[in-house]
Amino acid sequence: MKSKTQLVTAGRKKAWAGSVVNPSVQRASTVLFESVADMRHAIRHRADAVPFYGRRGTSTSFAFADSMVQLEGSAGCYAYPSGTAALANSLLAFLKTGDHLLMVDSVYEPTRDLCAGVLKNIGVETTYYDPLIGGDIARLIKPNTKVIFLESPGSITMEVQDVPAITKVAREKGVITMLDNTWAASYLFNPFEYGVDISIQAATKYIVGHSDVMLGTASATEKYWPRLREHSYQLGQCTSPDDLYLALRGLRTLPARMAQHQLHTEKVVSWVRQQPEVAKLLHPNFASCPGHDAFVRDFEGSNGLFSFIVDPAISKAAIEAMVDHLSLFKLGFSWGGFESLIMFYDGLSRIRSVTKWDDAQIIVRLHIGLEDPDDLIADLESGFSVLRNF
Ligand SMILES: *Cc1c(COP(=O)(O)O)cnc(C)c1O
Repeated sequence: MKSKTQLVTAGRKKAWAGSVVNPSVQRASTVLFESVADMRHAIRHRADAVPFYGRRGTSTSFAFADSMVQLEGSAGCYAYPSGTAALANSLLAFLKTGDHLLMVDSVYEPTRDLCAGVLKNIGVETTYYDPLIGGDIARLIKPNTKVIFLESPGSITMEVQDVPAITKVAREKGVITMLDNTWAASYLFNPFEYGVDISIQAATKYIVGHSDVMLGTASATEKYWPRLREHSYQLGQCTSPDDLYLALRGLRTLPARMAQHQLHTEKVVSWVRQQPEVAKLLHPNFASCPGHDAFVRDFEGSNGLFSFIVDPAISKAAIEAMVDHLSLFKLGFSWGGFESLIMFYDGLSRIRSVTKWDDAQIIVRLHIGLEDPDDLIADLESGFSVLRNF
């Protein structure tokens, strides 16, 4: 079945949904057993979506996890209270004192903070690598390298990684690969088809899709699923059924929303790229984006998120005036919801270790929502005129 079809029916088991379309929100701590034998059965199968105790999940989380497994083709999926919790738990499940981690230099800033904080404190050494390194990553692998962490495209600077080249080397050397796959939502890029061992997402973004829930997921292959699941459970990770219900609702319309985000973005990008103030377009569909070839080869489409580097002749104050002037593009972190957003970044060399970043460059990042693209372009037209005449 195609994923569109799967996402409509996924998780709709009689045991979870009864006779209605959607699995209900099942709030629970205690699960009541019919008999001692029933309890023993639950204890034996507590990791297999059999009701046992609220922390192991309820019908709502079973339905959500089952749907994610169908979307990604993993052996199992664990839900966390945020994307950051999913990243932290995945790394902590597989790294211990004395291990070495290879981390992509374009990684999401809180992941970098985790490496410099919690992971450093427990004696895990991190080496950053160029997102475009491809198979050359082999030369950075040491005897104690345990995990290679990828994020593609980078969520601000948009470098697209050669995932299969990296996972091939990793498999040969017995190193675990983890991918922050938030950009693709596992819909535009299927990590397990490209040899990734653990796929991590901020479901907060496109899966939830409505800017109203914090949620993370991590999915693993057969080999790594039991360890990921049990370590996350030991660390007490569990998620509200209300949040999971909303995430499951989001999943149903993920393909429809993604198609619309892509369509609107294509229209907006074709206007944006013609503006003289745009020095470099960072959208993976275009050759100016580092890793564009890998994107064309591996991805099944694009979404609503892209960036551009502003002409260095434009001052930061002018950019701030433009941002303040816009009315449909709101200023706020995150993305993946139905609404358009703008964010700008300077001084990005602060979050670079091995790749150069010129701090004179200011990046503007847009998330294109479900508003009419003509209205979005009109808003940008008016914003760019502020920029131009500042
Ligand atoms: C937002 C984001 C996260 C973190 O997700 P939260 O749910 O906000 O904790 C992780 N990775 C990427 C790429 C993100 O954009």
